[in-house]
Amino acid sequence: MMDVADNLTHIRQTIEQACKNSHRNPDEITIIGVTKYVTIERTEEAINAGIKNLGENRMEGLLEKHDYIQDRASWHFIGTLQSRKVKDVIGKVDAIHSLDRLSLAKEINKRAARPIDCFIQVNVSGEESKHGLSPEDTLSFIKQLERFKNVRIVGLMTMAPHTDDEDRLRAIFRRLVSLRETIKAEHLAYAPCDNLSMGMSNDYRIAVEEGATHIRIGSDLVGS
Ligand SMILES: *Cc1c(COP(=O)(O)O)cnc(C)c1O
Repeated sequence: MMDVADNLTHIRQTIEQACKNSHRNPDEITIIGVTKYVTIERTEEAINAGIKNLGENRMEGLLEKHDYIQDRASWHFIGTLQSRKVKDVIGKVDAIHSLDRLSLAKEINKRAARPIDCFIQVNVSGEESKHGLSPEDTLSFIKQLERFKNVRIVGLMTMAPHTDDEDRLRAIFRRLVSLRETIKAEHLAYAPCDNLSMGMSNDYRIAVEEGATHIRIGSDLVGS
């Protein structure tokens, strides 16, 4: 298994090149190390290599690693979150990337002691296996969130299909970019929606070229 530090060097080089191609600044991009496949030891290695943001898609994984790493990282919940589990993760996560229903927003609002950064998950590709709102429903959904004072909409998140079809991937990422512009144009105080959580091991170079601000990297960083 490769050193996490070597993997991170390669990822940073790829980001730098993608930023050059698209006239962006690499400082705009946050790398979230996704540790769902790996041990605490490997997670620790990622922290030592300089990773400052960690992502987990299951509550159990988050609690286990959070116990150990604590505030040496910022914590991102990137998986499907059941409403009844919100109370267990709410004090531990800095951002939730999978907000896709009103009942979940309501529960976050109720359990949080302060506003929580949330990304709205959008199912741009339309694959049935994927969670998230349709792009058409996203703005009206966000408009219903105003009454939840502890829910702050900082951006949109999507998962692209696992494909090497670059044109298809670009089309999906561009759709998320344009949806963000639509939402920003509403100037909603509780939904600044500046960020785009898109790009995984298979497609982060393209996602960065298209405007990603948060990329979620598991296998290419820590292995699978
Ligand atoms: C697992 C996972 C990732 C990371 O996937 P890799 O292909 O291993 O980089 C990113 N986002 C979400 C939501 C995931 O569940």
